[in-house]
Amino acid sequence: MNQDSSEALFCYIHPNRETLLRCNKCDKPICTECAILTPTGYRCKECVRSHQKKFETAQWLDYPLAIGIAGAASFFGSYISSFLGFFTLLIAPVIGVIIAEIVRAITKKRRAKLLFQLTTAATVLGSLPLLVSKLINLLLILGTGNLAGGFLGLLPIIWQGLYTFLVASTVYYRLSGIKIN
Ligand SMILES: [Zn+2]
Ligand SMILES: [Zn+2]
Repeated sequence: MNQDSSEALFCYIHPNRETLLRCNKCDKPICTECAILTPTGYRCKECVRSHQKKFETAQWLDYPLAIGIAGAASFFGSYISSFLGFFTLLIAPVIGVIIAEIVRAITKKRRAKLLFQLTTAATVLGSLPLLVSKLINLLLILGTGNLAGGFLGLLPIIWQGLYTFLVASTVYYRLSGIKIN
Protein backbone atom coordinates (compact mmCIF):
# COMPACT_ATOMS: atom_id res chain seq x y z
CA MET A 1 0.00 0.00 0.00
CA ASN A 2 1.36 3.38 -0.95
CA GLN A 3 0.65 5.95 1.67
CA ASP A 4 0.96 9.66 1.21
CA SER A 5 4.35 10.49 2.69
CA SER A 6 3.10 13.83 3.96
CA GLU A 7 0.50 12.11 6.12
CA ALA A 8 1.41 12.26 9.80
CA LEU A 9 2.33 8.92 11.42
CA PHE A 10 1.65 8.04 15.02
CA CYS A 11 3.47 5.41 17.05
CA TYR A 12 1.30 2.30 17.31
CA ILE A 13 2.11 1.95 21.01
CA HIS A 14 1.98 5.65 21.83
CA PRO A 15 -0.87 6.97 19.63
CA ASN A 16 -0.26 10.55 20.78
CA ARG A 17 3.34 10.64 19.53
CA GLU A 18 3.93 11.75 15.99
CA THR A 19 6.82 10.02 14.27
CA LEU A 20 8.65 9.59 10.98
CA LEU A 21 9.90 6.07 11.65
CA ARG A 22 8.39 2.82 10.55
CA CYS A 23 9.40 -0.71 11.51
CA ASN A 24 11.17 -2.06 8.43
CA LYS A 25 9.66 -5.51 8.94
CA CYS A 26 5.98 -5.02 9.79
CA ASP A 27 5.78 -1.40 8.60
CA LYS A 28 4.04 -0.16 11.76
CA PRO A 29 4.86 3.45 12.73
CA ILE A 30 7.11 3.59 15.80
CA CYS A 31 8.38 6.47 17.92
CA THR A 32 12.10 6.84 18.74
CA GLU A 33 11.53 5.20 22.14
CA CYS A 34 9.92 2.11 20.58
CA ALA A 35 12.40 1.80 17.72
CA ILE A 36 15.35 -0.56 18.07
CA LEU A 37 18.24 -0.09 15.67
CA THR A 38 19.22 -3.48 14.22
CA PRO A 39 21.86 -4.26 11.58
CA THR A 40 19.10 -4.13 8.98
CA GLY A 41 17.47 -0.89 10.19
CA TYR A 42 14.85 0.24 12.70
CA ARG A 43 12.45 -2.37 14.02
CA CYS A 44 9.64 -2.41 16.53
CA LYS A 45 10.17 -4.36 19.77
CA GLU A 46 7.70 -7.05 18.73
CA CYS A 47 9.59 -7.88 15.55
CA VAL A 48 12.96 -7.90 17.34
CA ARG A 49 11.57 -10.29 19.95
CA SER A 50 10.09 -12.73 17.45
CA HIS A 51 13.36 -12.60 15.49
CA GLN A 52 15.34 -13.58 18.61
CA LYS A 53 12.89 -16.38 19.42
CA LYS A 54 13.60 -17.99 16.06
CA PHE A 55 17.21 -18.47 17.11
CA GLU A 56 16.40 -19.59 20.64
CA THR A 57 14.92 -22.97 19.86
CA ALA A 58 15.91 -24.96 22.95
CA GLN A 59 13.13 -26.71 24.86
CA TRP A 60 13.04 -27.01 28.65
CA LEU A 61 13.96 -30.70 28.60
CA ASP A 62 17.15 -29.88 26.69
CA TYR A 63 18.56 -28.15 29.77
CA PRO A 64 18.60 -31.03 32.30
CA LEU A 65 19.66 -33.47 29.56
CA ALA A 66 22.56 -31.34 28.35
CA ILE A 67 23.67 -30.47 31.89
CA GLY A 68 23.52 -34.08 33.11
CA ILE A 69 25.37 -35.50 30.12
CA ALA A 70 28.03 -32.77 30.05
CA GLY A 71 28.66 -33.10 33.79
CA ALA A 72 28.91 -36.90 33.74
CA ALA A 73 31.04 -37.05 30.57
CA SER A 74 33.34 -34.33 31.87
CA PHE A 75 33.84 -36.22 35.13
CA PHE A 76 34.54 -39.45 33.22
CA GLY A 77 37.00 -37.59 31.00
CA SER A 78 38.80 -36.06 33.97
CA TYR A 79 39.13 -39.55 35.46
CA ILE A 80 40.71 -40.88 32.26
CA SER A 81 43.04 -37.92 31.90
CA SER A 82 44.21 -38.26 35.50
CA PHE A 83 46.25 -41.25 34.22
CA LEU A 84 47.60 -39.41 31.20
CA GLY A 85 49.73 -36.59 32.60
CA PHE A 86 51.00 -34.44 29.78
CA PHE A 87 48.75 -36.19 27.23
CA THR A 88 45.78 -34.58 28.96
CA LEU A 89 46.53 -31.60 26.73
CA LEU A 90 45.84 -33.72 23.65
CA ILE A 91 42.87 -35.65 24.97
CA ALA A 92 40.96 -32.78 26.65
CA PRO A 93 39.91 -31.00 23.42
CA VAL A 94 38.82 -34.37 21.98
CA ILE A 95 36.66 -35.01 25.04
CA GLY A 96 35.28 -31.49 24.66
CA VAL A 97 34.28 -32.19 21.06
CA ILE A 98 32.68 -35.51 22.06
CA ILE A 99 30.66 -33.83 24.84
CA ALA A 100 29.52 -31.04 22.49
CA GLU A 101 28.52 -33.52 19.78
CA ILE A 102 26.56 -35.73 22.21
CA VAL A 103 24.75 -32.65 23.53
CA ARG A 104 24.01 -31.46 19.98
CA ALA A 105 22.64 -34.86 19.03
CA ILE A 106 20.49 -35.17 22.13
CA THR A 107 19.06 -31.65 21.86
CA LYS A 108 18.63 -32.18 18.09
CA LYS A 109 20.83 -29.10 17.48
CA ARG A 110 18.36 -26.79 19.18
CA ARG A 111 20.01 -23.60 20.31
CA ALA A 112 19.94 -21.10 23.15
CA LYS A 113 22.71 -19.02 24.60
CA LEU A 114 21.71 -20.02 28.12
CA LEU A 115 21.77 -23.71 27.15
CA PHE A 116 25.36 -23.35 25.90
CA GLN A 117 26.42 -21.48 29.01
CA LEU A 118 24.83 -23.99 31.39
CA THR A 119 26.31 -26.93 29.47
CA THR A 120 29.74 -25.31 29.76
CA ALA A 121 29.20 -24.69 33.48
CA ALA A 122 28.21 -28.36 33.92
CA THR A 123 31.39 -29.37 32.09
CA VAL A 124 33.47 -27.31 34.52
CA LEU A 125 31.57 -28.70 37.52
CA GLY A 126 32.00 -32.29 36.32
CA SER A 127 35.77 -31.84 36.18
CA LEU A 128 36.03 -30.30 39.63
CA PRO A 129 35.74 -33.31 42.01
CA LEU A 130 39.09 -34.78 40.92
CA LEU A 131 40.74 -31.35 40.81
CA VAL A 132 39.57 -30.57 44.32
CA SER A 133 40.57 -33.98 45.66
CA LYS A 134 44.07 -33.51 44.23
CA LEU A 135 44.28 -30.06 45.76
CA ILE A 136 43.33 -31.47 49.16
CA ASN A 137 45.89 -34.21 48.65
CA LEU A 138 48.58 -31.61 47.94
CA LEU A 139 47.66 -29.59 51.02
CA LEU A 140 47.88 -32.74 53.15
CA ILE A 141 51.36 -33.53 51.76
CA LEU A 142 52.52 -29.95 52.30
CA GLY A 143 51.03 -30.10 55.80
CA THR A 144 53.53 -32.81 56.68
CA GLY A 145 56.36 -30.48 55.65
CA ASN A 146 57.29 -32.66 52.69
CA LEU A 147 58.13 -29.98 50.11
CA ALA A 148 59.54 -32.40 47.51
CA GLY A 149 56.37 -34.49 47.73
CA GLY A 150 54.35 -31.31 47.42
CA PHE A 151 56.17 -30.42 44.24
CA LEU A 152 55.35 -33.83 42.77
CA GLY A 153 51.72 -33.33 43.78
CA LEU A 154 51.62 -30.05 41.91
CA LEU A 155 51.91 -31.50 38.39
CA PRO A 156 48.68 -33.55 38.44
CA ILE A 157 46.88 -30.41 39.58
CA ILE A 158 48.26 -28.45 36.65
CA TRP A 159 47.12 -31.15 34.19
CA GLN A 160 43.73 -31.34 35.84
CA GLY A 161 43.32 -27.57 35.79
CA LEU A 162 44.26 -27.46 32.11
CA TYR A 163 41.80 -30.27 31.47
CA THR A 164 39.01 -28.16 33.00
CA PHE A 165 39.97 -25.15 30.92
CA LEU A 166 40.45 -26.98 27.60
CA VAL A 167 37.39 -29.19 27.83
CA ALA A 168 35.08 -26.35 28.89
CA SER A 169 36.28 -23.89 26.25
CA THR A 170 36.05 -26.55 23.54
CA VAL A 171 32.48 -27.40 24.57
CA TYR A 172 31.44 -23.75 24.56
CA TYR A 173 33.03 -22.80 21.25
CA ARG A 174 31.84 -25.97 19.56
CA LEU A 175 28.25 -25.52 20.76
CA SER A 176 27.96 -21.83 20.04
CA GLY A 177 29.41 -22.42 16.58
CA ILE A 178 32.51 -20.25 16.93
CA LYS A 179 35.46 -21.88 15.23
CA ILE A 180 38.75 -21.55 17.08
CA ASN A 181 41.02 -21.98 14.09
ZN1 LIG B 1 7.65 -4.55 13.53
ZN1 LIG C 1 6.21 4.51 20.91
